[in-house]
Amino acid sequence: MNLAVKILIGLVLGAIAGLVLNLTALDFFTGIADPYIFEPLGTIFLNLINLLVVPIVLFSIILGVAGLGDTKKMGRIATKTIVFFLSTTAIAIIISIILAVVIQPGSLTEYDTTGATFEAKEAPPVWETLINIIPKNPFEAMATGNILQIIAFAILIGFGLVKLGDKTAGLLKLVEQGNDLVMYLVMLVMKFAPYGTFGLIASAIGSQGMDAIRAMGMYMIVVVAALILQLVIVYSGAIYFLAKQNPWKFIKGFAPAMGIAFSTSSSNATLPVSMDVAQKRLGVSKSVSSFVQPLGATINMDGTAIMQGVATVFIAQAFNVDLSFGEYAIVVLTAVLASIGTAGVPGVGLILLATVLQSVNLPVEGIALILGVDRLLDMSRTALNITGDATCAVIVQESEDRRKEKLKNA
Ligand code: ASP
Repeated sequence: MNLAVKILIGLVLGAIAGLVLNLTALDFFTGIADPYIFEPLGTIFLNLINLLVVPIVLFSIILGVAGLGDTKKMGRIATKTIVFFLSTTAIAIIISIILAVVIQPGSLTEYDTTGATFEAKEAPPVWETLINIIPKNPFEAMATGNILQIIAFAILIGFGLVKLGDKTAGLLKLVEQGNDLVMYLVMLVMKFAPYGTFGLIASAIGSQGMDAIRAMGMYMIVVVAALILQLVIVYSGAIYFLAKQNPWKFIKGFAPAMGIAFSTSSSNATLPVSMDVAQKRLGVSKSVSSFVQPLGATINMDGTAIMQGVATVFIAQAFNVDLSFGEYAIVVLTAVLASIGTAGVPGVGLILLATVLQSVNLPVEGIALILGVDRLLDMSRTALNITGDATCAVIVQESEDRRKEKLKNA
């Protein structure tokens, strides 16, 4: 049986176990099943894949840059990647706002907004994140898992290795071997994925307040519908028209990574798997994958942007605030920036939502309304977040291949 199917089975069984225990034996779930079975399974798996993230980003980007060899190619790939990231994120928010304005999830029921309280945590300003891309101390960046800073450090090392050539050939070889080793470990850890997925999903679903889900059903439906539209229209369209490939094959090929993203709610933690899958099943070269995907896992969050778009409209409706066209435009702009500033770890999208709400003077307390169901939506949006990165990787690869072909024929 292949891994994707096993992960899917783990996912479904986990959902069933969590749901059944939540509805029939909540005490058993909170007292025994969750702390002694589900949580440990999930945590062991999460740690196993998280421990591979820093070495993978470091090694693969050094190799990627060294493999590209020339800075022109690097600049070209970077430009294509960033244009794709920004435009798909903007489209994602526009889709989500239109859907929420048409369906009006916040007006369908009267929400009690009087008791809503939410303490907004201070979100790091996007500008600061961008300025701090260059780490003062690369070891600190690695110790704290600051992916953007690790990327910057690795690019510098890769660049130096190319320039020094034979002098540092031994070091380059060492990085190559390190990369092979980490990729092998990814494969090994993935054997545990179906059990880890089972634990993570059972824990997440079992600890959900079913009443919260019932009350927030319409909001959840709108978010999920927008996520699906982004996948089916924007990504599939891009794969079909820009990369001239079959979208269904792409989705099927990438499914194991989506399963892991869904269960971990973390783009960063999924990175080792999503890179492995893109390279082995989607025909993306190591150099393109190792640049596009780690960068995407940190700055390209279309799923998160969708949640923020729907949530903003939902909160406006629940608090009876009318937003003007200009205010919607501000929401699009701030949500694009917020999704760049969102780290690829669970739940951060909600913190950045505060920034989006503040930009149009909506009450941040409104977040309290959607807090209860955010765990489930975080799973879904993370799956979309990393699919956007993979879509970009496939398209950049295809356009690089086409360019090579053209130069050969010229
Ligand atoms: N969990 C998301 C991710 O890792 C970020 C978020 O929306 O909270 O991609």
